[in-house]
Amino acid sequence: MNKQEILQQYFGYSAFRKGQEELIDSLLSGRDALGIMPTGAGKSVCYQVPALLTEGVTLVVSPLISLMKDQVSALVQQGVRAAYLNSSLSDAQYRKALSNAAQGMYKIIYVAPERLVSLSFINFCKRIKIDFVAVDEAHCVSQWGQDFRPSYLNISRFLDQLPYRPVLGAFTATATDEVRDDIIRFLRLNNPFVLTTGFDRPNLFFSTLRPQKKSGKLLELLRERRGKSGIIYCSTRKRVEQLCNLLNEKGYAAARYHAGLSAGERMQNQDDFVYDRKQIMVATNAFGMGIDKSDVRFVIHYNMPKNLESYYQEAGRAGRDGQSADCILLYGKQDVSTCRYFIDSSVPNEGLSAEEIAVFRKREHDRLRDMTVYATTGDCLRRFMLQYFGEDAKDNCDNCSNCLTKFETADVTVEAQKILSCIIKTGQRFGVKVITDVLRGKESDKVKQWKFNTLSTFGIMADSRPAALRYIIEQLEQQELVESVGAGYPKLCVTKRSYPVLRGEERVYIRKVKALRTQAEAGSTEGISTGLLAELKELRTQLAKKRGVPAYIIFSDATLADMCRVLPTNDELFLTVNGVGQNKLEKYGEMFIPVIRAYVTGEKN
Ligand code: ADP
Repeated sequence: MNKQEILQQYFGYSAFRKGQEELIDSLLSGRDALGIMPTGAGKSVCYQVPALLTEGVTLVVSPLISLMKDQVSALVQQGVRAAYLNSSLSDAQYRKALSNAAQGMYKIIYVAPERLVSLSFINFCKRIKIDFVAVDEAHCVSQWGQDFRPSYLNISRFLDQLPYRPVLGAFTATATDEVRDDIIRFLRLNNPFVLTTGFDRPNLFFSTLRPQKKSGKLLELLRERRGKSGIIYCSTRKRVEQLCNLLNEKGYAAARYHAGLSAGERMQNQDDFVYDRKQIMVATNAFGMGIDKSDVRFVIHYNMPKNLESYYQEAGRAGRDGQSADCILLYGKQDVSTCRYFIDSSVPNEGLSAEEIAVFRKREHDRLRDMTVYATTGDCLRRFMLQYFGEDAKDNCDNCSNCLTKFETADVTVEAQKILSCIIKTGQRFGVKVITDVLRGKESDKVKQWKFNTLSTFGIMADSRPAALRYIIEQLEQQELVESVGAGYPKLCVTKRSYPVLRGEERVYIRKVKALRTQAEAGSTEGISTGLLAELKELRTQLAKKRGVPAYIIFSDATLADMCRVLPTNDELFLTVNGVGQNKLEKYGEMFIPVIRAYVTGEKN
């Protein structure tokens, strides 16, 4: 069989995706390779296809136990002999798996990096023929990355101990130049073929919202997405608890996940989500790495994360199956203060000097600023993100909330002058709350205490709504006409750019939302029978329950949608459906085909 036939036979795909073929060819020709591809691009196929084309075994180093389990069950469903070796196995299970492996039962073996220092494992590896070693989530080898795993540094030492060196493939979704260099250096890739396909995920719809009341907005967003699987990220455990309770009260099946729960509960809740017993996962950023659930239809950030790297990684857990999915960020000014607090109180790495910590924090604050600009900009969100990661992009993507929003430009020079003079008159010592109170003429305790009700700026914007005022202040901040100084409760100060505005020499313009066009309907399910799709989904749910695997491991949403398009009434046609290989035809064809046939012949509609 050649690589094309393997792709069709085992994975059910008729064509390679961007970058896959080049990486596969490199590995097959004996050259090390490094693939940098976004989540959902299909990195696994890049080492699974070569694994099936050679005689020996492929070892896959993967950092997460849950990921291994999922990937191995997906492979087994596709008819590939695969197994995993990690600490979730009992001693007896481990020995059994090793003895099976020694008899050549497996083509692909997943291992945790910690395993690579175990003597019994090294001895086992010396006896078998290992053609390839694939390193998944290769950025874990770099201390620059967010997910540094010291045990990844064992990989090259492990390879040294083998009688000959297998071809090495490394894969990651996130790699800055520094991380990429670290991967090559610490894994000791030998003159590798490096391929970067770019970060864009065209199927993801990006949206930023600035609701008055986040909980109300969240419920509205969930009402529009009932029955769909999604993740809600919060910045604190307390918020996770609150929201999870709220959603359950409102009749949603929601699970929770954060580092304060026992390992047992975390595993149970994660399983409930992955196996569709709970549609919604409310979680801190402790949840996610290693979640391979491909049919997550939305990721909502209830709080803004502290940088775009984290945001893109978390939001990117939506739509791994390539179907359209939403990434929504609910922004509130308070999020910025929370992030500042986290940055200032975190100790990045043990052993760093005070000076190094200061440099680290400065960099984190810069990254927070970029994140905040993303959350508040009126420009194309996709373009902003891609440029942040160093890529070119079109001006408009037409698939983000800003591209679908019509803005108008408003001249707010007079408002800006009032705000700036209020900041100066109150001594540049107060935050947004006091400034808006003074401008609106609200006699709050602070206002009375400082006798601000006697100022000329008191009540000069009495007709403005607080949210509108806050919005203008934020925009002034973005244009560096105002500056927030200090952590916790930052105070507003003017800048040198404020004075020309105050003197009437420069005008100030901001963008205001005029109208939001509705999101383009997801093209993928257009023109297919929703009735048939629902029936196929129901059948999939029953089978998944019976076999104890997540539904998407049987068939992805994309594959079911394609079945509704192709309407295969026999085995041959069934094989042409995207995502149906020989093994899945044999396993499931006789159950799915009759349902489709009944629909086509009109016995049902
Ligand atoms: P990554 O590891 O890059 O995040 P995966 O390897 O999990 O992504 O692949 C994401 C999804 O894309 C999976 O459902 C996979 O089966 C699918 N996929 C991979 N290669 C192809 C292909 N050539 N054609 C269609 N779908 C593919």
